[in-house]
This record gives sequence, structure tokens and C-alpha cells, in this order.
Amino acid sequence: MTDSTKFYINGTWVTPEGTRQLEVINPSDGQGFCNITLGSQADTDNAVSAAKKAFPVWSASTKEQRIELLERLFETYKARADEMAQTISQEMGAPIDLAKTAQVGAGAANLKNTIRALKSFTFEHTLGEHAPDNIILHEPVGVCALITPWNWPMNQIMLKVPAALAAGCTVVLKPSEISPLSAMLLAEMIDSAGFPDGVFNLVNGDGAGVGSQLSSHPDIDLVSFTGSTRAGKAITIAAADTVKRVGLELGGKGANIIFADADEKAVTRGVRHCFANSGQSCNAPTRMLVEKSVYQQAVETATMIAGKTDVGQASDEGRHIGPVVSEQQFLKVQGLIKQGIDEGATLMAGGEGRPNGFEHGYFVKPTVFSDVTPGMTIWSEEIFGPVLAITPFETEEEAIALANDTLYGLTNYIQTADKERAHRVARQVKSGMVEVNGKSGSAGFPFGGMKQSGNGSREGGVWGLQEFLEVKSITDW
Ligand code: NAD
Repeated sequence: MTDSTKFYINGTWVTPEGTRQLEVINPSDGQGFCNITLGSQADTDNAVSAAKKAFPVWSASTKEQRIELLERLFETYKARADEMAQTISQEMGAPIDLAKTAQVGAGAANLKNTIRALKSFTFEHTLGEHAPDNIILHEPVGVCALITPWNWPMNQIMLKVPAALAAGCTVVLKPSEISPLSAMLLAEMIDSAGFPDGVFNLVNGDGAGVGSQLSSHPDIDLVSFTGSTRAGKAITIAAADTVKRVGLELGGKGANIIFADADEKAVTRGVRHCFANSGQSCNAPTRMLVEKSVYQQAVETATMIAGKTDVGQASDEGRHIGPVVSEQQFLKVQGLIKQGIDEGATLMAGGEGRPNGFEHGYFVKPTVFSDVTPGMTIWSEEIFGPVLAITPFETEEEAIALANDTLYGLTNYIQTADKERAHRVARQVKSGMVEVNGKSGSAGFPFGGMKQSGNGSREGGVWGLQEFLEVKSITDW
């Protein structure tokens, strides 16, 4: 692989102008295994300038040319899938089997769905039969900054990069400084697929540095961001002076509403989903709301599943969960578990400290709290660790009110055999996505949130493409 201290700018790997180095840490042992450079203002400017220079030609490329290059990227991505899985597993701690399947697979699926959306997208059409001389053009926004997190690195990058390029935009990607190596490997793939120089650029850096520089940069036309609500607010403020477009995909605190008539696997499925990727998913169902008549049973089942959830090294094969990503994340999760106990929630499984047998690395015990009530910190704060909070409810109205008692609105989950009730509840919960009875969204399902989970942007398929397009209406065509 390329020298990890370099950046990919204008079609080549360059030595950065910035000199600050950051170690990339393996969360399984807490040891650094390589360095990256944190970019300076000069590096940000160089990348933005390359993207700006490439924009006129790339934005005028045909749909067929873009499809051909994206399809070539898809082939390269598939061919180097194992290498990508190893890289993700080492930098952010996903167990290798999860990395190979869900982590790498999500990237492939997002790229494929974007190609499919591009094939069927009409960039130019009339306003309607009543106005055949009024033309609507969908034009690329311009130079885009893509800022991504570490938890599902290829999922998020592949929701942004292919959609932006398919729309005819040129980009500067700033991946998370915690998981930069998968993004650098993707840059190698983009290079070998043959995209023109400057269409895709990568600069490593932290939020305060390259992240803020991109957000306020006068030559950046759009920032597409996935990460914490805290950083989303900072980016919005930094972007305001230049009135650039800002797409935000932020945190979540999803409710999983389990009615008494839910299928027998609903609780087990909910616990596993909450713990998957060590609880580090924005759409994790972290608040399990259970109808009173089946509450005790659900708590017992959840406790039993937590006890059966193995924790293990990221490099080991199997269905265990790995460490959380960093020392900072480990300490945050430990602090929230302690607060759960101190504030009176009932600890059913897990708790503070590393699991038995782990002295190093950022491993957390799969943890279940019951009797969690609104007002407790673990009810409201996004934990981003394998920690489930269970709460009883008596009526459908109460379940809806509890589900909506959060600043977030990304994904809610409903488990019931009653279709009409599922439809009623799905309409009333405030979230961008609702998954019913364990069925996840199909290809091209628009991904995004309401309230403080986002600002109306949606990613995936045709919605993802539209994020990077401007609408121009012209008369007397
Ligand atoms: P984070 O906000 O700390 O960092 C995300 C990215 O933003 C990183 O690249 C970081 O360097 C950059 N950044 C940080 N501060 C910045 C600033 N002031 N200006 C510009 N860039 C800045 O988040 P994280 O810890 O990497 O990821 C976890 C968070 O991401 C969780 O809250 C999770 O819910 C959220 N997330 C949301 C989605 C979604 O689609 N809604 C998906 C995955 C993760």
C-alpha cells in the first residue's frame, strides 16, 4: 500500500506540506501501527484547487463516461475486497468476518446502487406536458468536501464519493483521522480505475484542521458530512459565511418498540442489532421499549443474549463483537455505564470494566440495563457502545411518546404482527427511517434522519445522487 503519510491530490500521491503526524491505533491492542499526516491549510488549498481545476471537464463528461469509470471502480473494489476488510478491521476494530461481509459489502452495495441510479436518471426534462418549452436541468453542484466518520468507513464513503462523481461533481475527501487507511486504499482503487486527475482528492486531517478549513473554504460549494451532531453544528456555522450547501447525517438514539404480539425472535434480533459493530452504528436500536405484559420475559431474553455474546480480537474469525474504536470512546462508554448504575437503572448484564481475559485493547462488556426511565443519561445520550436500555410501556400512545422523547430522529423499529398498528405507529414516530419486523431497507432505500439526526439530506440510490445536483429551470427552450 501507498506511504500512509501521503495525500492523493490531482491524480498523484504527494508529500504533504503539513508536518504534524498522528498514529493510527489498532483498537484490539491499543498500539499504534503506522502514521498519517494531519494536513495544513496549504494541503487543503492544494486539494481544493485541483478539484476546482478538474470541475469544468468532469462536469461536462457524459453519463456513459461516468458509468464506465464507476463500473471499473466496482470491479477493482471487488478484486481487492479482502485487503479492504483487513484494513478496516485493523484500523477500527470490526471483527474480520464482519469487515468482510457487512463493512466491505455495504461499500460495494452503495457503489452498485449509485451506478444503477445514474443509469436511470434523467438530467434534463420538461416541466410537464402543460409546459413543454420549460426545461429542468439537473446540474452538478461543483466542488464538494466529503467528511466521514470511522464507524462504517466504507459504507459512508461509498454513499458519498460515487454519488458526487456520478452527479458530475469533483471532490475532496477527508476521512476520519481514526480510520484513514481504508479511504487511502479506496484512493488507490480510484486511481487505478482511471478517473481524470483532480476529480477525486484525499487529504487526511482532524476536525479542527482540514475539517474546518474545508467547511469554510470559499471554493467548496457543498459539504457532505456524516458524524456527530456536535461536529455537524460546527460545520454548519463554519459554512454559513459562504452560504454553501451542507448535508448532515448525524447521530441517533433509535427506539425498538416491541408489542406483545411481536414474533418470538424480536427481542433476540433487537439485542444483536444493538450490539452489532460493538454498538457503533448511528441507527442502532439502543432503546428497547417493551409492552408491559411481555416486559419481564424480554428482559430475561436480552440478559441471556448479552451473556452469550462473545467478545474477541478483531483479527479472529467468528461472530463475536470486537473492541470499540479508541481509548476516548472506551472511556466515554465506561462513564455512561457508570452513570446508568448511579442514576438507578437496573444492571442486568455486563457493566463497568473490560470483559474477563482482556487487559489491553478497548473491549467493553455487552451490557443490558432494564427499568431505564426518561431523564436518565443513558436514555437520552448516544452511547456508541454495546449497551442496551430497556423500558416498559402500557399503551400504543405511550410507546410513540417514549420513542419520540429524544433529540434524534434517525431510525425507529417496530415489532408487531398487527399490520395496521405497524402503519399507525410508523406514521407517528419522528424519524427518517422506520424498520418493521426486522426487515431492513432494500437497494436504494433513502438513508437519513429528522430532528438532530440530520438536516433533510438523504443518501443512497437516486436520493443520494440528488444531494449533489442543482436544479436549473429555463423558459422558452
Ligand atoms: P465526529 O463528528 O467526531 O467525526 C466525524 C468526522 O468529522 C471526522 O472526519 C472528523 O475529523 C470530522 N470533524 C470533527 N469535528 C469537525 C469540525 N468541527 N469540522 C469539520 N469536521 C469535523 O464523529 P465520529 O466520532 O467519527 O463518528 C461517530 C458519530 O457519527 C456518531 O455520533 C454517529 O451517530 C454518527 N454517524 C451518523 C451516521 C448517519 O448516517 N446519520 C452514520 C454513521 C455515524
